[in-house]
Amino acid sequence: MDQYDVAIIGSGPGGYVAAIRCAQLGMKTAIIEKYSTLGGTCLNVGCIPSKAMLDSSHHYEDAINHFEEHGIEIPGEIKVNLEKMIGRKQGVVDQTTKGIQFLMDKNKITVFEGLGSFKDATHVNIKKNDGKTEEIEAKNIIIATGSKPSTLPFIKIDKERIITSTEALELKEVPKHMIVIGGGVIGLELGQVYKRLGADVTVVEFMDRIIPGMDAALSKELTKVMKKQKVKFALSHKVKSVERKGDTIIVKADDKKGQEVVFEGDYCLVAVGRRPYTDGLNVDAAGVKLDDRGKVIVNEHLKTNVDNIYAIGDVIKGAMLAHKAEEEGTLVAEQLAGQKPHIDYNLIPGVVYTWPEVAAVGKTEEELKEAGVDYKVGQFPMRALGRARASMDTDGFVKILADKKTDEVLGVHMIGARCADLITEAVTAMEFRASAEDISRMSHAHPTYAEAVKEAALAATGDRALHI
Ligand SMILES: Cc1cc2nc3c(=O)[nH]c(=O)nc-3n(C[C@H](O)[C@H](O)[C@H](O)COP(=O)(O)OP(=O)(O)OC[C@H]3O[C@@H](n4cnc5c(N)ncnc54)[C@H](O)[C@@H]3O)c2cc1C
Repeated sequence: MDQYDVAIIGSGPGGYVAAIRCAQLGMKTAIIEKYSTLGGTCLNVGCIPSKAMLDSSHHYEDAINHFEEHGIEIPGEIKVNLEKMIGRKQGVVDQTTKGIQFLMDKNKITVFEGLGSFKDATHVNIKKNDGKTEEIEAKNIIIATGSKPSTLPFIKIDKERIITSTEALELKEVPKHMIVIGGGVIGLELGQVYKRLGADVTVVEFMDRIIPGMDAALSKELTKVMKKQKVKFALSHKVKSVERKGDTIIVKADDKKGQEVVFEGDYCLVAVGRRPYTDGLNVDAAGVKLDDRGKVIVNEHLKTNVDNIYAIGDVIKGAMLAHKAEEEGTLVAEQLAGQKPHIDYNLIPGVVYTWPEVAAVGKTEEELKEAGVDYKVGQFPMRALGRARASMDTDGFVKILADKKTDEVLGVHMIGARCADLITEAVTAMEFRASAEDISRMSHAHPTYAEAVKEAALAATGDRALHI
């Protein structure tokens, strides 16, 4: 039987990063993945393919709606070839997942293809796709089995017209009317893709605002911009049934007054969140405990209740984000090597890759209010930037929340072009516990969107914004 220092179950961004770091630190490492491609949700049916579709649909939208005002004329009709678009997306996925295989080989990590399940706390059975089973032994085991789309108890996902994000990345036609249940990140990103490609899109959300976990100012601005893009919103609507009649999907919901509202479309994307995935893992055989929502319980060292078993990523508590899973993979590997790494969960940024992009780090204004923190706000609109006017991407703003007494930056919330990249400046500043004045005194290249960060910092340090 093969023996390893570490065996990692699951090859998503948590698992494969943990594997690389373990190997870099000299551990004999194995990774087990039930699918034939590595990279997990993120690379196969999550972050990467959704961004590929967002980018392609954005080009189309620009071509039909914005090229003309830039003085670009295209004779004839501009058409979408969805099959080709999805083919390109798959090409990006294939290239990226092969890259992970290359990294496994480069770092001499043994890859097992098959379903991993615990035999006991140090042995894992691997059921291969040809039906054969192999057993390996490992001193330490990392559970990185991720998550799957969740649904509501009364909804039957048929994977044809009542779909999850996975099927939404593979549609054969542009829907006429896509009803999106859930106004969170995934529903809004994929809803925007199909809106740009020509579908009518209605987002039905239970809460009174979209992206409910983020700063309320971001929800408000994104709703405003997406309404301009003709996405329809039904907020404070509690979906109570989803039915298919032929090619028609009927969604019934109660609005906040308790009145029934009926939506009819040809596709319904169910984007109500994701659930931790431990099916077939046989955690009981190792004695690993799950909480009542099915998440693996871990302590601050990401150790389960069993001494040599750890868990990371979507299968444990916290934000379901690829970069959070990656940090956790690194943390466990370094701990196993005797180091003392640390993750500041307050500084894990959250991003929505709609256009305009939405990004945030640290505390929201609602959280500061609730905690009774005395704070000040500096805000700057994108439309006041020369760069934004040059590209005609003038929607959005940067908002900095800083401690009223110390001026320390407590949260940064932004919406606008390229905010997914801009948020890194805020993370860096907060990692070094910068004050708003520190940011305001840093030179920011002109003309850039990043100037909005400097201006918001100037605004926070006593109404000193220069260009408004
Ligand atoms: C449409 C969509 C878009 C997203 N976009 C973003 C984004 O832009 N940015 C971002 O940060 N996050 C995004 N996410 C979330 C991100 O994909 C997840 O947070 C991330 O993949 C979690 O990583 P993980 O390693 O914990 O698990 P996963 O990526 O889910 O990987 C787990 C792996 O374990 C394997 N596995 C499970 N059980 C077993 C077993 N018993 N044996 C062997 N293998 C097993 C699975 O097959 C899977 O490959 C998106 C998700 C979706 C669905």
